[in-house]
Amino acid sequence: MKALERHEVDRIRELTLQGKMAREVADEVHVSIATVRNWRKRLGLDISAIRKDLRAQGKLETRCNDAYHPPGESPCWDCIHAVPDMQGHGCPWTIGAMFRDVPGWTVRRCRREGKEAVQILHCPMFERG
Ligand code: SF4
Repeated sequence: MKALERHEVDRIRELTLQGKMAREVADEVHVSIATVRNWRKRLGLDISAIRKDLRAQGKLETRCNDAYHPPGESPCWDCIHAVPDMQGHGCPWTIGAMFRDVPGWTVRRCRREGKEAVQILHCPMFERG
């Protein structure tokens, strides 16, 4: 691991406590993402727990881009539109289980065991539920 100056470590801690993603921290401190992750570990900073606390306090945006989703997980799990109801919740993907594309979303499609699988990378309709 690259040796860092004290102020760089402090900045990693500060940005992490603000809930910044590793890439954002790496860009600001001018180190690699791996270095940010290593230092977070050394400092005992759990970004998932930090972001969860910040969200609970309403200090983190609820946009899809800002919501932390571990790689491979769908934002739908945290989205209010995952379960359609009579209060206006639901989206083209979930209403009537029609699985229609959401306008403007970004997905990765692949085939798994002969079936098409869709991984949602960004959804403009995402709202934290
Ligand atoms: S709005 Fe987007 S993130 Fe939310 S349930 Fe529908 S597809 Fe998933």
